[in-house]
Amino acid sequence: MTFQKLTIQEMRQKLISGQLTSVELTQGCLDRIKATDGQLNAFITVCEEEALAAAAEADQQLAAGNAALLTGIPVAVKDIFNTLDVRTTCASKILDNYVSPYDATTITKLRDQGAIIVGKLNMDEFAMGSSGENSAAGAVRNPWDTERVPGGSSSGSAAAVAAGQVVATLGTDTGGSVRQPASHCGVVGLKPTYGRVSRYGVVAFASSLDQVGPVAGNVEDCALMLGAVAGYDPADSTSVDCPVPDYLENLKAGVSGKKIGLPKEYFIDGLDPDIKKGIDAAIETYRQLGAEIVEVSLPHTDYSVACYYLIAMAEASSNLARYDGVRFGARQDSGDGLNGMYQQTRSAGFGDEVKRRIMLGTYALSSGYYDAYYLKAQKVRTLIRQDFQHVFEQVDMLLTPVAPTPAFKIGEMVNDPLQMYLSDIFTIPTNLAGTCAMSLPCGFSEDGLPVGLQLIGKPFAEAEMLQAAYAFEQATDWHKRAPEL
Ligand code: GLN
Repeated sequence: MTFQKLTIQEMRQKLISGQLTSVELTQGCLDRIKATDGQLNAFITVCEEEALAAAAEADQQLAAGNAALLTGIPVAVKDIFNTLDVRTTCASKILDNYVSPYDATTITKLRDQGAIIVGKLNMDEFAMGSSGENSAAGAVRNPWDTERVPGGSSSGSAAAVAAGQVVATLGTDTGGSVRQPASHCGVVGLKPTYGRVSRYGVVAFASSLDQVGPVAGNVEDCALMLGAVAGYDPADSTSVDCPVPDYLENLKAGVSGKKIGLPKEYFIDGLDPDIKKGIDAAIETYRQLGAEIVEVSLPHTDYSVACYYLIAMAEASSNLARYDGVRFGARQDSGDGLNGMYQQTRSAGFGDEVKRRIMLGTYALSSGYYDAYYLKAQKVRTLIRQDFQHVFEQVDMLLTPVAPTPAFKIGEMVNDPLQMYLSDIFTIPTNLAGTCAMSLPCGFSEDGLPVGLQLIGKPFAEAEMLQAAYAFEQATDWHKRAPEL
């Protein structure tokens, strides 16, 4: 039996009513992974035994009438979340055999809600990339066209949901890594406000930008997953102590009377015609749903990519210093002393993109260049954040494209890192500003590739943003299409 077409809520009803057991559902999910992952490479580790054992346990809970939000529902997480007893590789050779001694807070929360974790998803190494190609476990392929990338860095998180391998996943978003792959794979992905979800136990890339975010096949499931993982965590000093609303409660509130801003800097000449078509139609749909559409300006948008790549690389160079073969990392040592061991470990363990970033980040932080690069980027970041503050005095949310083009071909950009960095041009500013944003399907290209729409909400206004997303989804049926595999 296949369960790929069911939503979380439908699975939940069937489990509670006894029409379906968690063992059946989990087995169905494992079978689907077996049948399709040869084509996609979305998983790094599949935890078959652990998942089936947890499913049997969930069935007992269900029989006893104890159903939490996700009891018995199989999900998967990016291989950047620390999981007790199952390796966490970050798609890097340097962590190939790393097993964390504890669960990330978000993993604990998923388990507390009864979710079954069926595996760890492929990604760009240390979440650095926009295509899923920078992985020691090999590239992930887009389920809509396996010659194309699924986007990145949460490549497996998006591809697995699009292919019906699992109903929902967790990814991380530092500069667009949940939203851009969600867009390329035709699924829903959400980056919460910085501080909304705990980062404890998530391998750090750029600590002032990283956020955990859910990916799902529809807005309601995405809202449910966000509710399951959101909230203050004393173990993460950057998590914010403010109440988590019930994201499902007012999901159907609609957008009538809401003011939606179109930042003119995002609607540049030369936008890919397929993207433009999808976004223009989405704007029209929102108008018909009763929203007021106004043009606004985020004047410092042009500096976002440069600013992001300075800050992200600087933070990465510092965060990745811990992989030295002593505390973490697969040690390489041919007996040349401590410095030789460091050098061999890091040379053998990191891939090209990670090395490039460590070198550029170290340079930007070095004495004499710190003020010119890192400090200046921090000042520009403040200007970008202020742009959003000003705009949110005029409108309730923003609507923009997610990516400048639909999914590109595997190999097309690997030798042009700058061009690759530009694919995040529309997603990066919200990470710099710290506000929430999400991606949802709004059409298909001439070639049959998904096109995504980005909504950007005020800080901690995920509920309002989800309402607008839900209203759009109800008015369209893009999310109902599925790739054939
Ligand atoms: N693609 C961006 C980068 O390479 C964003 C990555 C992310 O959000 N983790 O840095």
